[in-house]
Amino acid sequence: MNTPCQDNHRSGNSLITIGLVVDAHEQDEIHIHARWLCSRLSEEFQHDFPDFTWKFRIVQRHDFPQTIPRDPLELLEFGSDIKIEYGFDFLLVFSALPLLARFGQAISAVPSNMLETGVITISRLLEMEDKHKTRMAILALTRHVLGHLWGLDHNDQSVMRPRQFWRGEEPTDWSQDEKSEIMQYLKDIADPRLEETSLAPHTAWKFYLQVILREGWQIAGDILLSRSWLMMAHLGRFTTATAVSITFLFLSAEAWEMGAAIQSGWLDMVLAGVLFASTFSLYFGQNLHAVGRSDRMMEQAVRSRIVLVGTLLVGMVSFWINLFIISLGIIYILPDSVLAGWAGLAGKSLPMVHFAKLMATFGIVASALGGNLEEEHDLKAVLIYSEET
Ligand SMILES: [Zn+2]
Repeated sequence: MNTPCQDNHRSGNSLITIGLVVDAHEQDEIHIHARWLCSRLSEEFQHDFPDFTWKFRIVQRHDFPQTIPRDPLELLEFGSDIKIEYGFDFLLVFSALPLLARFGQAISAVPSNMLETGVITISRLLEMEDKHKTRMAILALTRHVLGHLWGLDHNDQSVMRPRQFWRGEEPTDWSQDEKSEIMQYLKDIADPRLEETSLAPHTAWKFYLQVILREGWQIAGDILLSRSWLMMAHLGRFTTATAVSITFLFLSAEAWEMGAAIQSGWLDMVLAGVLFASTFSLYFGQNLHAVGRSDRMMEQAVRSRIVLVGTLLVGMVSFWINLFIISLGIIYILPDSVLAGWAGLAGKSLPMVHFAKLMATFGIVASALGGNLEEEHDLKAVLIYSEET
């Protein structure tokens, strides 16, 4: 079932559509809250952002994921598919059941800027006695999530202030500056998507190339925003697998002999190959290629995939740099004569940079294997979540 909330149609303005997905089996109370939220936001946005025509739509689904507690990652993917299916610009998955917290304590929402989708649960908000406060909390939480989808950072002076618990206390709205930032962000979004223009190529690689040419800089910004270098910090097994393998490598004479046999030029090529191979091994191993899937070539889905691969690659490169510095430090500390003996370079000085490169490269191979062992899709969550709030 698909219910329009309220249409504020004005010709000439760019249209922004927001979908709100609710489980069809949810209690009446939840559907009432969802309808109230839609019409309230619709009115406010029309007032605050008059350059756009706002269209909200509630979608009731019978195939809503039923795992308990609700897994935000599953809901984000479910929502992202619906967003593509209906052609919404943004989508919110609205639920009354608790969400699974991966990185923090109890959570109320997970926005994903990459998927232009957010998950909101009002389970803890419904526990409040004061019903007016509940509604204010729902409104503030939704604004906070939309703010993240529209590129805003945290700010203590506005609704973008991070909170442990959403109680409907002030501030519940964005600041004037934030509203201007949102305007600018939405203006970029409202441009026609590639598949809606006559320029859209029909072959896959041309489509990818076209997306990179059109949005290369923004995509690069997104990749750096996703803070891929923090990716590794979240992943314990990833780091452990790497540390263990590097330790064994340092203790085995064969690794040193092999290092002496490989020429520097070859090693650089092997390194580039290993970085790309491990990036794609994680990409396919973690089923990231299924993110934002669609039968047709769509700019949004293609863009998400490029950002995912780019984030993984930047993560891998920065991880390699870390391993390189650690290896170089260890080689510097160990006695030169022993290492030169292992490497069969008796009498000559040890090329330290060369060996540190080799060890770091082996470390990346091990980490790619370790990364694919991560349980519970943690890696995927690190890449897709903007935050848990
Ligand atoms: Zn936040």
